[in-house]
Amino acid sequence: MSKSTPITVPERMRAYRLIAPNELRWEQVPVPEPQAHEALLRVVACGLCGTDLHLKTRGHYYWNDQPLTLGHEIVAEIVSLPLDYTGALQVGDCVVVDPQLVCSNCYYCRRGRLNLCDHLEHLGLSVDGGFAEYLTAPVRNLYQVPDAAPRESLWRYALVEPVATCVAGMRLANPQPHETVAIIGLGFFGQVYAQLARLWGAQEVFALELSPARRAVAQQIGAATPFALDEWQANPRHADVVIDAAGSADAADWCLRVARKAGRVVVFGYRPEPVRADWYQILVKELTVIGSRSSNHAWEHALQLVHENRLALNALIAPYEFDAIEGAFADAEAQRVFKPILRW
Ligand SMILES: [Zn+2]
Ligand SMILES: [Zn+2]
Repeated sequence: MSKSTPITVPERMRAYRLIAPNELRWEQVPVPEPQAHEALLRVVACGLCGTDLHLKTRGHYYWNDQPLTLGHEIVAEIVSLPLDYTGALQVGDCVVVDPQLVCSNCYYCRRGRLNLCDHLEHLGLSVDGGFAEYLTAPVRNLYQVPDAAPRESLWRYALVEPVATCVAGMRLANPQPHETVAIIGLGFFGQVYAQLARLWGAQEVFALELSPARRAVAQQIGAATPFALDEWQANPRHADVVIDAAGSADAADWCLRVARKAGRVVVFGYRPEPVRADWYQILVKELTVIGSRSSNHAWEHALQLVHENRLALNALIAPYEFDAIEGAFADAEAQRVFKPILRW
């Protein structure tokens, strides 16, 4: 569509909504009305995240138990912009959407820690997201996909949000070239973290993963040297930076075991239930434990990494039509795919 062609917007649209735990369904809902500072967006594609699987079955710290349109890894086309908007974006532009809605005014926002905003809302987690035909978002949350991106590959830009979360975590970990990085868990995020560690210059990157299939993918894309847990136990090695990219019940304990003395542990994976770990290992080894939540100031970098194909991501994604969303959830739950990306 040319940028000058007005887009006709229907009154109602389809949205895939979480009604209650384990109750997800398509509903007809009104197309949302943009507020004064918001754009109306037509969804092109939206990735399915492990967080959506948690939300479906067990909820999430963001969710307020109200019916919610899921989806926070959003690629969309701009349908309308605020009347007083004077920036560079135009109707018809393709954008990726930072799903974090912040107040800009609280203690944390004023200090640049936007992802910790006291009034934070999150598209697809606390307010309606991208598993729908349309959504609204503040203009400041939009990042333009370069015009050079071919139309048939726009759906791949749904990767920018999850890559941005890893870029943010990697900046906090800040591995140096002489340091060893270990990744706990080689799901989608672990595979991305392993590749980012290489981009950061780390010479040695290894990973612990239960699944032989996931270890094989890491080997194949050259992301990390993968080990099964018993292989590691037979020949323990340690790392200066350890990233929990699993969010499994025992991942925290593995992080503390794998960390070298004076090492850094990044808590990135999440599960709704508390975990048990040998807390005093932090004292004994003088570890630094770093939490990393969503993303902060990482979007330009992540967009560039995806646009320039700097990461081997093709083995990690699978396109699905939105009408096949139940199958996408089932395939993700059964670990038949790393990341489904839904397309209209
Ligand atoms: Zn996510
Ligand atoms: Zn704030």
